[in-house]
Amino acid sequence: EKKDATMRTEEYKLEAVSELRFEVETGSDASVQLDLLEGMAEVFGAELTKGRQITFEEGAKVAVFTWHEVLLLACLDLSHLAGKTEVAYIAKETPMVMYINTHAALEQMRQKAEKEKTRGPRVMVVGPTDVGKSTLCRLLLNYAARLGRAPIFVDLDVGQGDISIPGTLGSIVVERPSDIEEGYNLNAPVVFHFGSSSPSHNTQLFKLLVSKMADTVNQKCDQSKKCCSSGVIINTGGWVRGAGYDMLKHIAGCFEVDVIIVLDQERLYNELKRDMPDFVEVLLLPKSGGVVERNSSVRADDRDLKVREYFYGLRKDNKDSFYPHPLHISFNDVKIYKIGAPALPDSCLPLGMKSQDNMLKLVPVSPSNGLLHHVLSISMATSMEDNILESNILGHVVITGVDMEKQMFTALSPSAVTPPRNIWLMSEIQFMDID
Ligand code: ATP
Repeated sequence: EKKDATMRTEEYKLEAVSELRFEVETGSDASVQLDLLEGMAEVFGAELTKGRQITFEEGAKVAVFTWHEVLLLACLDLSHLAGKTEVAYIAKETPMVMYINTHAALEQMRQKAEKEKTRGPRVMVVGPTDVGKSTLCRLLLNYAARLGRAPIFVDLDVGQGDISIPGTLGSIVVERPSDIEEGYNLNAPVVFHFGSSSPSHNTQLFKLLVSKMADTVNQKCDQSKKCCSSGVIINTGGWVRGAGYDMLKHIAGCFEVDVIIVLDQERLYNELKRDMPDFVEVLLLPKSGGVVERNSSVRADDRDLKVREYFYGLRKDNKDSFYPHPLHISFNDVKIYKIGAPALPDSCLPLGMKSQDNMLKLVPVSPSNGLLHHVLSISMATSMEDNILESNILGHVVITGVDMEKQMFTALSPSAVTPPRNIWLMSEIQFMDID
């Protein structure tokens, strides 16, 4: 077969405290299989298991790290890579020791919280784009879960989040380390609709959703002692200047964070040190040389892959694991809204109203071809009396067809069942269902 001709198999030996880094090509159906032959290694805090072949899908950027070689010279990690990689190299310089020390400090805070029946550490990870914020969150969560903790993960990165699709904010309880192939176990996530991949699109809505998310986290902590003492890890987007910086302060305030980890930017570190109250510990950590920089087109591709994965599952073994369904829905059966009206000059508005107030308005969207390819969030809200903006999201669909004559939509949905709710929120984010 043609594909086999391009396959290559290589063995890599890793020393202690070093990592094998590789990227899997985006596009085509490239993938990389990895076998652990000997020793112990992990991928962003999740352990590899001997005898379980791991497949990394297109676009994956991976570091396989090992701690143990110094202890036993005879025990080598022989990681066996097969497939097509763009780059694969072994790096000895990694900030992993500093990251693990940070984890150890957080664990001490958890132990203290457990003993004193108080709240565990609430940690916010900040920094510009492409410094490894999501990766550090994953690492800290996985290490905590491996010790039997159940920290809450809050992902406020609406562009490249790890919980739901782009354009949403999410939170989950991480009771088990994330699966290397499948990611976090998404049991009962809290997901809010934001509708765009940048918080600057609607800062008012973003702020509102951040404080609502903080409320849900506090509720969870009230219900579960374990979550409460395990603490919270908050991932943020890369918007750190101007209004983005104010947003970070807003997040820190809402969640009453105890620790802020700044990755790779001294200026941001100094600003936060200056502006945060004394009880907030601000730490500066270096980024890993392995973090891959992504330009805007790669980011767009990554967002697309995320949406694709939501509908089709992982592309493992070239077989899609989910079978999304085309739904046919009458215009009359759903009510579609977007959040935020276009800004009008204040002089055009009723007395006493500011154009700002418009940004939290639900604006009805009439069916038209303008909806084609847009992602829509299905709100849990059952009526207009519910607080729709702050309602959890049940799932998503993408509009794939609009038939104005028959007054019907066709939509891509992860399930064949017509969604049980009829209030749908339109996202700016679009997805073309082509392969
Ligand atoms: P953004 O602000 O865009 O969300 P980020 O700061 O959260 O970016 P990550 O998503 O954590 O950055 O990392 C960017 C990419 O680099 C990811 O695909 C991640 O898998 C990869 N990566 C992180 N650390 C390493 C490493 N040590 N070796 C190889 N790849 C890595």
